[in-house]
Amino acid sequence: MEVKPQMTEGSLKSLLKSESADTPSGRIIRTLSERGSLSAAQIARITGLARSTVSTAVADLRRSGLIFDADPPESAESRAIGRPATALRLNPEAGTCIGVHLAIDELRVAAADVSHSVISEQNIPLPLDYGPDLAAQRLKDCIARIYAENGLRQSGLLGVGVSVSAPVSPDGSVHRSAIVPNWAGVNVVSLFGAALETTILIDNESNCSAIAEHMWGAAQGQDNFVLFTVNNGIGSAIMVDGRIVTGLAGGGGEVGHISLDPEGELCRCGNRGCLELRASFGWALLELSRLHGRPISIDAAVAMALHGDAGAIRLISDAAEVAGRGVAILGNILNPPLILISGALAKSGAILLDPLRTSFEKHALLKSRELKPEDRTRIIPGALLANDVVLGAVGLVLRHHGRIG
Ligand SMILES: [Zn+2]
Repeated sequence: MEVKPQMTEGSLKSLLKSESADTPSGRIIRTLSERGSLSAAQIARITGLARSTVSTAVADLRRSGLIFDADPPESAESRAIGRPATALRLNPEAGTCIGVHLAIDELRVAAADVSHSVISEQNIPLPLDYGPDLAAQRLKDCIARIYAENGLRQSGLLGVGVSVSAPVSPDGSVHRSAIVPNWAGVNVVSLFGAALETTILIDNESNCSAIAEHMWGAAQGQDNFVLFTVNNGIGSAIMVDGRIVTGLAGGGGEVGHISLDPEGELCRCGNRGCLELRASFGWALLELSRLHGRPISIDAAVAMALHGDAGAIRLISDAAEVAGRGVAILGNILNPPLILISGALAKSGAILLDPLRTSFEKHALLKSRELKPEDRTRIIPGALLANDVVLGAVGLVLRHHGRIG
């Protein structure tokens, strides 16, 4: 395809649109948007394009200013001694995107450019029962402020990714959720799209966490993994061949509501004996708060455990035992090479991870001791525990832009 000599925001937007998706330039641009930086050889492998086709299109895109070399060799000497393959990257000036997490009492907002650099992160406080219209207005104000403060043009905004604490249907509607009851049935793609006048992409928070870990964190280069989040609730996400498994209506990967005991306690979902009731830390916080006679947050409980509080350590260990059973169920279904443990409780490190791994080993069909080292499922903490959800919302735009809307 013909590429204009001058780089414009419009040319990047048009190459990211679905009608350009099958041109070589469109495929290269979308692959770089999704993956960050890649060599020409990696682009050829991922897109399935011939090396010569990639070379021709890359030369055109370089001339247009849309892509450039990410890591030029430092000196003539380093070029002479085995020059590394040049990594290509989108020009950060070619476009920006916004990610927002609809948290329980605030909006967490991040802005990034198409080269995957994060420009700004902000938290906007909101009342506990805030609704969609207020959120859209505050988000619009926040985006305007971020762009003004950083000297960015709003015309370069490629889209807004939204993370919500509930399953999301393929058309962008929020399913029923006890965490965000005001949002049940709301079509965020239409509502935010009209308010913000840009492309909106939305997914649930665990899927966003998995996307962030894949793009920037502990799952970089690993296209098959499971993410298991331990907070006041349980979240999980499944990535297969680089794609999140969302299922038919957006209910894929909801492992927290597998019933381990059909006669057990009633869960917020209406089921009995769900994994979430004992693997999450909600019930443990009630016990800990009762014992100490004051409300204790999950972060405070983790801090207590890290300072050696025997009660907090025991409660995390108890949750880890049940979480390990849940992770083993996933292990028996998927046998993934990697399981990332995320969420506030993962900040306790080995206090959670050691008993969780032991429980996984006990409940999984394949035992690590019987497997070659390279065949053992690795269970490690996520690398972005502080902001994985909002970064993943940014990732929704970088990965999927142009596929809906
Ligand atoms: Zn449940």
